Amino acid sequence: MSRFWSPVVQTLTPYVPGEQPQMQRLVKLNTNESPYGPSPKSLAAIQEQNNEDLRLYPDPEGIALKQAIAKLHGLDPKQVFLGNGSDEVLAHVFVGLLKHSKPVFFPDITYSFYPVYCKLFEINYQTVALGENFEIRTADYKTPNGGIIFPNPNAPTGRAIPRSEIESLLAFNTDSVVVIDEAYVDYGTESCIPLLRGNACPDNLLVVHTLSKSRALAGLRVGFAVGHPDLIAGLERVKNSFNSYPLGRLAQAGAIAAIEDQAHLEQTSAKVMQTRAKLVSELSSLGFETLPSTANFIFTRHPGHSGAALYQALRERGIIVRHFKLARIEKFLRITIGTDEQSSELVSALKEILA
Ligand SMILES: *Cc1c(COP(=O)(O)O)cnc(C)c1O
Repeated sequence: MSRFWSPVVQTLTPYVPGEQPQMQRLVKLNTNESPYGPSPKSLAAIQEQNNEDLRLYPDPEGIALKQAIAKLHGLDPKQVFLGNGSDEVLAHVFVGLLKHSKPVFFPDITYSFYPVYCKLFEINYQTVALGENFEIRTADYKTPNGGIIFPNPNAPTGRAIPRSEIESLLAFNTDSVVVIDEAYVDYGTESCIPLLRGNACPDNLLVVHTLSKSRALAGLRVGFAVGHPDLIAGLERVKNSFNSYPLGRLAQAGAIAAIEDQAHLEQTSAKVMQTRAKLVSELSSLGFETLPSTANFIFTRHPGHSGAALYQALRERGIIVRHFKLARIEKFLRITIGTDEQSSELVSALKEILA
């Protein structure tokens, strides 16, 4: 605390990211990174950009990357907004599209960065309780609001809702923006991006993606949003009032090559989904109850053990998972899907702990 802090800084409760421990030989299953490397084509493109041109500023608009994203998703480049990780995209979304006199709605259990942005930007928000089985109930969002945002699949539960439900929410909710954070969409969830194609593009749907999870580029910091060109134009105004060059030359080059290598994404996501299915069934034989997941992580609890104790016991065995000390979910562990080998180590450790 310093007497020079602005009043708002004194009131903040900053987001705490999952730890990035420096210990060797750790099974790190706590921040939903990909266990597989990025596309080799992406690494090659970054190498190639690693040259004298780094003395020059990057393209402030990221046109080539916008074109690659637009092409992949059947959109116009004017429908694409870029940011330094989707966390930065989300920050601009909160300022630019969700700050109104009516409160923005999001689930009571969700990505814990949302309330942090609301505090920082002094945005009025209201949480909406998940259902009994931790599902998002869109019916509960059908009252006047200043905007709606949730991940699909939701984090940290891993539960998704079908696109048709979001369409029905949009049909009702025409006076504010609906933001779907699709950070984990590539592991078996229906994307809302098809709704944005062509003339039928709604003026109030925004879909946010990251290259940090399924494209294995968390260290490069690239995220994007897609939606109606008028929404994107608003986000560009915010971005250009904050930082004109959020993406460096290396990030832009690496991201373009990653977006173009859809085969790599499909192979690695398929592998993660296979490992997930096997892990869920092995955990079930140990007595764990796991929520149905279409993410690269699972949310699981054991009726006979506290989440905090399991977290600690795993940690002592060099396996790091995520535990949230929050009402309703303190019994759960959020476990990132790693390689088959990491999964086996996890299951062996849990057998030992439960014995
Ligand atoms: C990981 C994650 C993000 C942010 O990813 P970036 O690394 O900042 O691109 C956004 N939303 C959710 C729900 C996430 O889990």
